[in-house]
Amino acid sequence: MAAERLVVIGGDAAGMSAASQVRRLRGPDELSIVAFERGHFTSYSACGVPYWVGGDVEGPDALVARTPEEHRERSIDLRMRTEVTEIDVAGQRVRALDRESGETYWTDFDKLVIATGARPVRPELPGIDAPGVHGVQTLDDGQALLETLERTTGRRAVVVGAGYIGVEMAEAMLRRGYEVTVLNRGAQPMATLDPDMGRLVHEAMDGLGITTVNGAAVTRILTGDDGRVSAVATDDATYPADVVVLGIGVEPETGLARAAGLPTGPNGGLLTDLTQRVRGHQDIWAGGDCVEVLDLVAGRTRHIALGTHANKHGQVIGSNVGGGYGTFPGVVGTAVSKVCDLEIGRTGLREKDAAAVGLRYVTATIESTGRAGYYPGARAMTVKMIAEYRTGRLLGVQIVGREGAAKRVDVAAVALTAGMTVEAMTALDLGYAPPFSPVWDPVLVAARKTVTAVRQAGSA
Ligand SMILES: Cc1cc2nc3c(=O)[nH]c(=O)nc-3n(C[C@H](O)[C@H](O)[C@H](O)COP(=O)(O)OP(=O)(O)OC[C@H]3O[C@@H](n4cnc5c(N)ncnc54)[C@H](O)[C@@H]3O)c2cc1C
Repeated sequence: MAAERLVVIGGDAAGMSAASQVRRLRGPDELSIVAFERGHFTSYSACGVPYWVGGDVEGPDALVARTPEEHRERSIDLRMRTEVTEIDVAGQRVRALDRESGETYWTDFDKLVIATGARPVRPELPGIDAPGVHGVQTLDDGQALLETLERTTGRRAVVVGAGYIGVEMAEAMLRRGYEVTVLNRGAQPMATLDPDMGRLVHEAMDGLGITTVNGAAVTRILTGDDGRVSAVATDDATYPADVVVLGIGVEPETGLARAAGLPTGPNGGLLTDLTQRVRGHQDIWAGGDCVEVLDLVAGRTRHIALGTHANKHGQVIGSNVGGGYGTFPGVVGTAVSKVCDLEIGRTGLREKDAAAVGLRYVTATIESTGRAGYYPGARAMTVKMIAEYRTGRLLGVQIVGREGAAKRVDVAAVALTAGMTVEAMTALDLGYAPPFSPVWDPVLVAARKTVTAVRQAGSA
């Protein structure tokens, strides 16, 4: 009997994690695997692009966890530079376009994994395609930006967008010696934080010499006589630029799946069950940036494009397709980032998220240090905690500070997952020694202050 065939669309984190896990569980005699990747790389870390551009790490080869050849050695028939252009759900087949030869052909599948990722938002602005304007979604993008930097003599960089990719790229350009302006449409950088915490990021960026302009909606990219980018215009001003980096966010890449009639959610991502099976389709799975995830705190689905989820999705899909069992229960919304030495961590709901799902809440914000106050190198850290009114259930934590700030948020992520109250958190047995924290860890100090806020609100 011929082996069953698994087809995978997308050769990065979710797709190749799934394919690799399937292969661990089922040999090529039982299940053949054909994977399609339209780009030049597989299993690459886009997360490393800002650090590659900034000169902290080598690239692009160092950012590739597994090459096409290594996948092929594991009996995965990987077809590079080949784009799937159509999914025929009823006929259980996909149509592929070989981008090198121009040839198109159909491939049958018994099981299908959709791992097409996300595409960067690229508004249709005049001049957006001008030489010198770069996205940073893929390793090819990183390479193209570096080539531009080598050729460019001017030293003015404009970064459009102040989410985590925007601030990481602002750091990268600063480290390359550029004068950096960040144009941010929102009220403060890092919209994944509440504005009061975003303001701290803004202040720190000022201190680093990065100019951040809030409320700046880009209207056009201007070009010089040579056709290259020369400036970025907003409604209010024009910012000279020798290079422009776009970090405006991403949308799930689901055009192919939607055209095939597969279900998408309110945020545009594919809808799956807890085993990552596409809802209503027994033999089709999806994971990574192209799906919506269940927000365990808010109780609804969201689109969160993060590699940490994509890798787990791939593992879960691979286990299920391979005859094992796995589930992805959802996320609490944890993310960390940095701009130079300023670390940023967040998990759970912001104030506006809590309000949007009808939760009443209290907040408390504390200032502490990452080490004992007397220990050399102790630096300030701000922790904001959000808890449910009356019950005191933890809803969210945001941390901005220096060394050790970002990953402290993991304690809160565990507490959120466990459904802990802020009162229960005050008794957590967290490690202490002067080089690592004050005797009361900043997270515990925040929990104590939030307990007081919950009590006061309850008795008001
Ligand atoms: C600059 C940057 C920094 C980041 N930093 C972090 C970080 O610090 N932490 C974190 O958790 N996440 C980070 N991320 C996000 C992380 O990289 C993504 O969440 C992760 O790569 C998603 O994996 P994926 O497999 O779902 O999608 P992708 O990595 O987007 O891979 C999808 C693949 O599918 C291919 N494809 C799409 N459509 C087709 C088709 N029709 N046919 C064939 N191939 C197709 C694409 O070419 C692509 O290679 C960062 C992303 C960027 C861009």
